Amino acid sequence: PVDVDSLKALVRTVPDFPKPGILFYDITTLLKDKTGFAQLIDAMAAHYLSQKIDLVLGIEARGFIFGPALAYRLNAGFVPVRKPRKLPAPVARVTYDLEYGTDTLEIHLDAIQSGQKVVLVDDLLATGGTMEATVKLVKQLGGEIAGLGFAVELDFLKGRDRFPGYDVFSLLHYD
Ligand code: 5GP
Repeated sequence: PVDVDSLKALVRTVPDFPKPGILFYDITTLLKDKTGFAQLIDAMAAHYLSQKIDLVLGIEARGFIFGPALAYRLNAGFVPVRKPRKLPAPVARVTYDLEYGTDTLEIHLDAIQSGQKVVLVDDLLATGGTMEATVKLVKQLGGEIAGLGFAVELDFLKGRDRFPGYDVFSLLHYD
């Protein structure tokens, strides 16, 4: 079984990034550790291996690090959810509120066939706003959401409360 505390020790915290008062959880220090990265992906994959997952969807940008590794491990395809105007073919789009202003995410309209089983992945669950917007996109395309997966969850922000009835799985928890 994976030693979660030793994986947590590989995540670096950086005070006052990207702005004063924010404590940033930096996963690059875990990624560069060959054993830690492999253990993290294997432990995330283990959570889904009993199901037949068709697609893993990753959210730009740090979901593009964990998503494809997980997709490979699950024998699933990978779908990118991107910032505006990056995808070349017709897209579905969702705009969601941030603390100040709004943000937009896009997915190719033909990225998911109706009924396909999809795992949605990002590096970190904070307030859940980013993942909530992504859930809307996947529903719009008719995907069946098998789970919402994260490397890191900031428990004190209670982001998972936005997803009643969904399987929300994070390996590393901070309170
Ligand atoms: P939420 O939408 O849940 O509030 O924020 C999660 C999104 O912001 C994720 O896409 C994540 O990459 C990014 N994010 C917010 N805070 C952090 C952090 O402390 N560390 C990292 N690595 N990403 C963060």
